Parts: sequence; C-alpha cells; structure tokens
Amino acid sequence: MKKRTKIVATVGPACDTLEKLEALIKAGVNVFRLNFSHGTHGSHLEILQRIRQASKNLGLLVGIMQDISGPKIRIGELEDNFTLHSGDILEFTTKDIVGVKIKDGYYRLTINQPEILSKVKIGEYIYLYDGIIRSKVTEITDGGIKVILENDGLLSSKKGVNFPNTKIGIDILTPKDKKDILWGVHNQVDFMAISFVQNADDIKNARALVKSYGGDVRLYAKIEKFDAVENLDEILEVSDGVMVARGDLGIEIPYYKVPHVQKTIIKKANNCSKPVITATQMLLSMTKNDTATRAEISDVANAVLDGTDAVMLSEESAIGHNPLLVVQTMVNTIKGAEKYYPYYKISSLPIHDFADKINESASALSRGLNSTSILTITSSGNSAKKIARYRPNKPIFAITHEEKIARTLTMVWGVIPAFTIEPTNIDDLIVNILKKGVERKILKQNSHYIVTAGTPTGVSHSTNMIRLISQDEMNDYF
Ligand code: PGA
Ligand code: MN
Repeated sequence: MKKRTKIVATVGPACDTLEKLEALIKAGVNVFRLNFSHGTHGSHLEILQRIRQASKNLGLLVGIMQDISGPKIRIGELEDNFTLHSGDILEFTTKDIVGVKIKDGYYRLTINQPEILSKVKIGEYIYLYDGIIRSKVTEITDGGIKVILENDGLLSSKKGVNFPNTKIGIDILTPKDKKDILWGVHNQVDFMAISFVQNADDIKNARALVKSYGGDVRLYAKIEKFDAVENLDEILEVSDGVMVARGDLGIEIPYYKVPHVQKTIIKKANNCSKPVITATQMLLSMTKNDTATRAEISDVANAVLDGTDAVMLSEESAIGHNPLLVVQTMVNTIKGAEKYYPYYKISSLPIHDFADKINESASALSRGLNSTSILTITSSGNSAKKIARYRPNKPIFAITHEEKIARTLTMVWGVIPAFTIEPTNIDDLIVNILKKGVERKILKQNSHYIVTAGTPTGVSHSTNMIRLISQDEMNDYF
C-alpha cells in the first residue's frame, strides 16, 4: 500500500526546476510549501507555475501551501556587533536609533516593532538571537525597557527576538503579509500557513481578508507562540488545519515541553478532523549529509505514530544538497512506522455529529472486509477528513466534484484524491465512479468497495449513507 502520511516539502533553489519537482512528486511529496520569508512575487509565481506543470505532466495531484511570513520580531541595525556577557544591561528604546555600545556592559538598541515594548512587564524574559541569548526585564523606562543578560553571546544586526512571557497582542498580518495574501488568492494557492498566530481572532482576521479579496483558501495556523498553545482549542475551531511549528515554538516555550505539546496538538487536531503538519528540523542533518541521524529518523517515525497527517521538510528540501534523497528517506521512514501503526481508532474519538458516526461505522465495516477500499464522495472534502480520522487500514479514495477540493485533500492522512466527477443522482453517480475508476486503473474490477456519500449529491456536509458494493454487483457493471 502507498504511504498514508503526507509529505510537505519547502521549495527553494535546491529543488525548483521542473525536473527536480517532478522527481520529488514521484518520490512522494504531496504538498509544496512556498516560504514567503524569502523570494519575490515574480520568483514564487514561476515556481508555482512549474509545480502545476509538473503535477500535470505526471497526472498526480499536489497541493500548494503559501507560508505567510508574519511579524517576525527583530532587533534593529547595530553600529557594531555586541560582544555580550552575563550581567550586561541592554536598553531597548522606542526611538529610531542605530544600536550602540554606551559603555562597558551597557548597550542601547531598538526592535522593528517598538510598540511591543510597552506591553512588557518587569520580571518577564526576552530572548535574543533565536533563543540563544536570554535576558530578564529589570526596569520600565520612559519610552523603553532595560533588561539584564543571563548568559554570554555575540549579537549582530537584525537577529530574531522572542517574548516568551509577554502577550504582545499585535496585528499579526503585516502590510507585506496582506500583499502576499492577495497574491495567494490571485494565484489560487490551496493552503495558507499563518505564522505567529496568537488566538482565534488572528485566523478570523486572515479569513476576512482572504474573503475580501474574493478568495477561499484553507487556512493553517502555525502553532509557534506560547499564547497559541494556551488558546489551541479556539484556534482549532476557526482554522482548517494546524502546524506544529517546532522551530519558533521551541524558543517560545521551554524546549523540553515541545514533545508533549506536539502530542497534544496532534491529538486535539485529530479529534476534530483537522489536518495537522509536524514541522522543522525533521531530517535537518541531511541538508548537508547523505544520511540522517538515528534521532531524526525516530523523530519522523514518532510524529507519524503520534497521528500527524503530514510531516514537513524545510531547509532539507529548499537548500539541501540532495532533496530527492531526503524525500526518499522520509518515505522509507513513514512506511516503516506505518507497518506498526495503531490503525482503526474506533470508539476512541469524540463523536461531534451525525457524519462522525457514519464515518466511524464505515471504518469499522472496512475492518471486517478484506480487500476493500473506501470510496468517499465528498463535496467539501469534509467527509474524507472525517473518515481519515479513524485511520482505517484501507485506502480512502476521495471522489470530488471539483479539482480545487481534491487538492485540499492532498494534506489529509490516507486520502487519495482520486478523481472528480459531475454530481448526478446517487445510483448513476456510483456506477459512473466505478466505471471511471476501473477505466483509469485506480479501482479494480475484482474487488469490493464501501461507499460513503450524502444524498442529495453535491451538497456539502450531508453524509448520510454507507453502501456496500459487492463483488457480484461489480460483476454486473463490467
Ligand atoms: P518557519 O516556521 O520555518 O516559517 O519559521 C516553522 C517553525 O517555526 O517551526
Ligand atoms: Mn516559525
């Protein structure tokens, strides 16, 4: 059987030719991520068109995720690098200055979003240089703050800053993000990943913006801030999916909490049938090396066993020395883990609605029948996600009426977005699906199938039937 867990690969100079993109799709990439922290609209458009061409050439559906960079907080320019020592004092000012050493052990500098400084309280921590330099707030000054360093480090211009204790409460969509979102709507990306989400309102605002541009894009909240972890339930409710963005998350919360938070996010996302991506440093050492570390292989396997829908590659595929080898390593690791996967999570998941019950029953039915695949006829993609949640050990073929919906299912565990078909009355529809499926060698004549669908057909969120197609019935059609 094909691997069930999906792969998201970040595109960059190491893999952005047509030939290399095709090789990655053939090897098992399901979704390509365009990282809007880099590149221009022009360069991303070229890549997007190449991905679509590669997908068309191979006849394999792939999704496109646009990663919106968000409000990465950075220090300003420094006159010179600061050689910092534990006990040194840094004064952050809201004035527009170039960072400068005032005297030994005392420095003055800025951040790119100075309004955040007014939210900080004495005793809170501020991390500099992606978590490497730790400091604690000691004083609120007139229009700024002072912090004392707790370790040594070399600080240069524009390094990242994190506020792991401060609810900074900013508008997470920067002017650049808003232009990028318009680009994404215009070019019909399938998914947008929203960075540094704090709460449900951030996703609601992003959705309102997408809508105001006339778009309809699946929005994935990147969980990478401490307050996002606290507000996970409300964020999940309004998002189409989430990403465990472990890079920034491991700075915002203590690193030793990340594995547990990963498990919690995955479990909660599974419970409400929202796809979840586990991201960052999964096979990082392969950016330079031909083999992964044992720890990295375990990390990928454990994310699969935790129940993630997708695992993600960042530098490994974007700037690594052999993206194809990385994807092959990931595929082998996924398949290895899926051999002892806890399939059939039946009766262990909360039932939220009628469709959950139907899909649970269809999964249970598939368990008892050998050589059966599940065909889910889905208008919105919802039903495919709901059946995948039970992790049946049988292929789930999703039949949609629109290719746009099929592409949104590229992220969902175990779902093969098989083909699209015009909605008609249910009996004709099933026969059309079986005929088209066999003709295209996706389905087999000598097999039997479980079909889930909603009648009347073509209506979203209407799953209300399970139908068994026996071998005898198949024989009647062929
Ligand atoms: P990034 O997000 O690569 O855009 O920072 C992922 C992460 O923080 O893990
Ligand atoms: Mn991040």
